[in-house]
Amino acid sequence: MRDATLVTVAGREPAHRHGPVNPPISRASTILFPSVEAYERARTHEGITYGRAGTSTTYAFEEALAALEGGHRSIALASGKAACNLVLAALTQAGDHILVVDSVYAPTRQFCDRTLARFGVETSYYDPRLGAEIDALIRPNTRLIFLESPGSLTFEVQDVPAIVEVAKKRGVLTAIDNTWATPVFFKPLACGVDISIQAVTKYIGGHSDLMMGAVTTGEAIHMFLRQRIYEFGAPASPEDCWLALRGLRTLVARLERHQKSALEVARWLERRPEVARVLYPALESHPDHSLWRRDFTGASGLFGLVLKPFPKKAVCAMVDGLQHFGIGASWGGFESLVLVTYPERWRTAVPWRAEGPTLRLHIGLEDPEDLIRDLEAGFQRLQAEARS
Ligand SMILES: *Cc1c(COP(=O)(O)O)cnc(C)c1O
Repeated sequence: MRDATLVTVAGREPAHRHGPVNPPISRASTILFPSVEAYERARTHEGITYGRAGTSTTYAFEEALAALEGGHRSIALASGKAACNLVLAALTQAGDHILVVDSVYAPTRQFCDRTLARFGVETSYYDPRLGAEIDALIRPNTRLIFLESPGSLTFEVQDVPAIVEVAKKRGVLTAIDNTWATPVFFKPLACGVDISIQAVTKYIGGHSDLMMGAVTTGEAIHMFLRQRIYEFGAPASPEDCWLALRGLRTLVARLERHQKSALEVARWLERRPEVARVLYPALESHPDHSLWRRDFTGASGLFGLVLKPFPKKAVCAMVDGLQHFGIGASWGGFESLVLVTYPERWRTAVPWRAEGPTLRLHIGLEDPEDLIRDLEAGFQRLQAEARS
């Protein structure tokens, strides 16, 4: 079954539906059993036994996402951040060393530097453009390599197969934050990565109205992770699982549209005199374009933009006046967004050097012509304010 078909049928448990197309929202703390034996059997066989481990709505979402990821099981969590942090915390102990990509989502970096460090886990950041050369950074106590591709804010594409090959040879686990591509455009588990993480908040939710994360793995590591993650007690709510499942049904269709519009806007931006670089791997001009072509089947609607040197007040005049781009965190919903970003504040392995201010755009489901006209007026404000 291809992904576009799969997202319409996965996690629907026809035998338990009694008619409605979608599973109901099942809210529960207590789950009742007819006997001690039935309760104990459910607990040892990953049945639904207590609200903290999920209800039938949670399981329906997890089943659907695991199918799309090509994994054994998924675990739904309260946010994308919880998913990243719990994987990092569940797999490490005092004395361990981990390798984290320098372009990682900044709050993931903060968790490593503050919380993991307090528990005696050392983090080294590595150049996102390292492939097999990562071998030289692996120490005897290196437990995990954490990837995110393309990188948050700066959009470098990692050579995932090369890193996985080295990690397997050295007995190191790999986890990837695959939120940008979603399992529709990149399948980490098929590439040999041990753990695939999604901020479901973004494209799977797709409508800017829920917070959720998910961790998907093969069979070997699933039970270990599920038990550790259960100890933290940060499940997704059944309402959010229900919304995320609704989002998943249209994920493939929405992503196709995000991709088409993002490419159109990105190509237009590349030709603007105010723009130094567009950080979108789907563009031929992107330094990692061939890597992206090799490993990904598409590009989502989020990319970066480096302007030529302009004063901050000119950038603010441009951004503040945009009609169709909201100013705000997150992305992956139906609507376009813009943020001024500061990647140079985070880098430690390789400094981020840019010609001018950096923006991040999320291209939503609006007509791209409207977005281009809006940006064009924005560039006029940018130029006018820079001259004044
Ligand atoms: C948003 C985001 C997260 C965190 O997800 P939340 O649901 O907001 O906690 C993690 N990784 C990436 C790449 C993200 O963009």
